[in-house]
Amino acid sequence: MAHKYVYLFTQGDGSMRELLGGKGANLAEMAKLGLPVPLGFTITTEACTRYYDDGKIIADDIMAEIDENLVEIEKTNGKKFGDPSNPLLVSVRSGSRASMPGMMDTILNLGFNEDVINGLIAGNPDPEFERFVYDSYRRFIQMYSDVVMEVGKKYFEELIDHMKKEKGITDDSDLTAGDFKLLAEQFKAEYKDKIGDDFPSDPKEQLMGAINAVFRSWDNPRANVYRRMNNIPYSWGTAVNIQPMVYGNLNNKSGTGVAFTRDPATGEKKLFGEYLINAQGEDVVAGVRTPNQIAMLKDDMPEVYNEFAKIADQLERHYKDMQDMEFTVENEKLYMLQTRNGKRTAAAALKIAVDLVDEGMIDEEEAVMRVDPKQLDALLHPQFDPEALKKAEPIGSGLAASPGAAFGKIVFTAEDAKAWSDKGEKVCLVRLETSPEDIEGMAVAQGILTVRGGMTSHAAVVARGMGTCCVSGCSDITMHAEQKYFDLGGKRYNEGDYISLDGSTGKIYGEAIPTIEATISGDFSKFMKWADDRRVLRVRTNADNPTDTAQAVKFGAEGVGLCRTEHMFFEGDRIKAIREMIVSKTQEERKKALDKILPLQQGDFEAMYRVLEGKPMTIRFLDPPLHEFVPTKDKEIEELAQDMGIEKEALIAVIEGLHESNPMMGHRGCRLAVTFPEIAEMQTTAVIKAALKVNSENNGYTVVPEIMIPLVGEVKELQFVKNVVVETAERLISEAGAALKYYVGTMIEIPRACITADEIAKEAEFFSFGTNDLTQMTFGFSRDDAGKFLDAYYDAKIFESDPFERIDQKGVGKLVKTAVELGRKTRPDIKLGICGEHGGDPSSVEFCHEVGLNYVSCSPFRVPIARLAAAQAAIAEKRAK
Ligand code: PEP
Ligand code: MG
Repeated sequence: MAHKYVYLFTQGDGSMRELLGGKGANLAEMAKLGLPVPLGFTITTEACTRYYDDGKIIADDIMAEIDENLVEIEKTNGKKFGDPSNPLLVSVRSGSRASMPGMMDTILNLGFNEDVINGLIAGNPDPEFERFVYDSYRRFIQMYSDVVMEVGKKYFEELIDHMKKEKGITDDSDLTAGDFKLLAEQFKAEYKDKIGDDFPSDPKEQLMGAINAVFRSWDNPRANVYRRMNNIPYSWGTAVNIQPMVYGNLNNKSGTGVAFTRDPATGEKKLFGEYLINAQGEDVVAGVRTPNQIAMLKDDMPEVYNEFAKIADQLERHYKDMQDMEFTVENEKLYMLQTRNGKRTAAAALKIAVDLVDEGMIDEEEAVMRVDPKQLDALLHPQFDPEALKKAEPIGSGLAASPGAAFGKIVFTAEDAKAWSDKGEKVCLVRLETSPEDIEGMAVAQGILTVRGGMTSHAAVVARGMGTCCVSGCSDITMHAEQKYFDLGGKRYNEGDYISLDGSTGKIYGEAIPTIEATISGDFSKFMKWADDRRVLRVRTNADNPTDTAQAVKFGAEGVGLCRTEHMFFEGDRIKAIREMIVSKTQEERKKALDKILPLQQGDFEAMYRVLEGKPMTIRFLDPPLHEFVPTKDKEIEELAQDMGIEKEALIAVIEGLHESNPMMGHRGCRLAVTFPEIAEMQTTAVIKAALKVNSENNGYTVVPEIMIPLVGEVKELQFVKNVVVETAERLISEAGAALKYYVGTMIEIPRACITADEIAKEAEFFSFGTNDLTQMTFGFSRDDAGKFLDAYYDAKIFESDPFERIDQKGVGKLVKTAVELGRKTRPDIKLGICGEHGGDPSSVEFCHEVGLNYVSCSPFRVPIARLAAAQAAIAEKRAK
């Protein structure tokens, strides 16, 4: 039998997500449950893949299958495509495996033409019906022209605005049947003007155009950005769902809405959603009209409400998860158009997972799998400083669409948001309403504010998913986006002015309010314990000061996996000491500088040891890429020359001598200690003396420092530096007359180290994978500059994600695996960890679990993410067995 590319809803089920996409699989599942679903069919994701393989055409055999299935749904629905007396009209919607709300295209009301219009009107003399038919027709022309033929929406909107102006009306609902009829004519003329051909009247031609457009939309720029942000592979493709239309805009006994079985912002168990009477779905989502709360449907249409509430409950029990449903009521009859596991805030995700366990619907293990680790980020994000908030006066408010607090400078376009944020500015993006094209700007904004739109509007849904604070639907704002200002509460706010947004209360402030760290709810600890009970990987943190260390410990860090000692000298006067050391020409000068550094360093280590209370701490010896540290500004050079008592010119000459063409591959890491062993000696002294001191305080714990030598590529480099370390440490320990255990290990961040890891393990008592440098050196991409060309790599589909963010398992991962195997061969009990940025990326954490590392180390705010990702990796592995 030929390969099957098309499935009737009655032929599929919920398990066929990969093939039918989420929407298609759930529509089939709802049909199987006997729920009121308009019965259509799904063209599979494989058809989409084939569309691209075949050079963006729909192959004849797939076309033939679509035709056959069209005949089937004509039969089931008792209507015929293009039949003037009883026409079948359909919606054409995308639906990939993972939900990508609003990223791809949809065409509604497909199948209209002049004959169909006339036939419909002849069969129903009600003038309201005639108005509805022409309204639907002009919507179709508009949508088809925009989505399928890519004629900009704005031309049509201008025509509508022009007509309303001529008639002196402001509301679409004041437009008559005759107006819509005229608009349909004008739209078709516009189409011909822009495209050169007549608007297609053959429903089959319309259908093929629409299917093509949905497949094509899989590759549109916003879908590509969304996929990259959510790790959705390009190779998945989208399915297309063809479904008979039901009309929420038929009359006042009709309507449409979206609802969740639990509150997607808080997780509270109650029906939550919005609907509009006499409207189509796009009206609710677009936020053009402000919808009613779902509870009001109980009064408007009690029977429909009861039926819907019952179905909602049934679906939640069936899927054992919170559902997000779309429905339409046509002449008081309810139809279900979609159900899916609803997107939710991090707080809601936790509450729902914990509640579902309490309600006996799922077990703890399943609950752990239910929360996306990346989402935890949102829980850990700042809130306003309560004291500062008390003093602040709101200037207005909107809907509390996505929780969190933010302040930033006002920008009015997504492009500006990106450009300003690239310059290091914090921005709040203010828009009339957002659309999917805005996604990149939304991603970089601290907060998002919109004038229009409800809780289920694009801005609200997308911001919630990103964990970005959002206030939507502040209709008091008068926008002057072109002129880059808005008015609110009698005041003008210009581009670049500060505002603050509270996404948890909906309040807007006309000033910058400082924010403070997040506090964590009871559900969080309970949930994280379930995760901790199941994970194998330990989780440490990358921290270089006591404050960050304390923060990380609060978030569950089990030690410090990377203390970058050069970072301890970034600020204030301290950087001078490091600079002095770097530009020293003689050993004597260098020793003088090191003497200044030693007490500072020792004090910092002591403070961190105390915060850690005996938890392990890996101290990485100096690894300053010189270009980050040598002074470049005239004033800095002058000051340094003065401090060192040398001539400015002499210092400039030294600095010039230090110039390197490739500083990231330059005189850094262990190379520095090989050239200047006194640096390693000073650092060992600080580490050991601090440990001896803190251990002598009898605090009830014992410090066991782990000294880590960076950028080793050859075992003899490690041997050399290790000799300095061991000699110094042993001397200090014996002088102190106390016992002290310490380890010496290395970073594995150079490809050569990976492939000679068996030799390196003879000297190293532990390895920590520095996957930032390892990625840089495996690809030969500069870590500092790759961003400039990676966009082109995404566009060309060479990369689907940033290898500096998500570990490249094929190449870099293979090197890591090799090093793990070789290292363990020499030293079976060698401790293995990762401290590159990948240590906090969920998919990379999963990889670390698979290759059998002992721990991951990541920045403090990512510790909970890593804990959860580690648990999920362990559970997934168990389930796969
Ligand atoms: C690394 O290279 O992965 C690493 C952790 O070290 P740094 O980022 O300090 O070079
Ligand atoms: Mg490194």
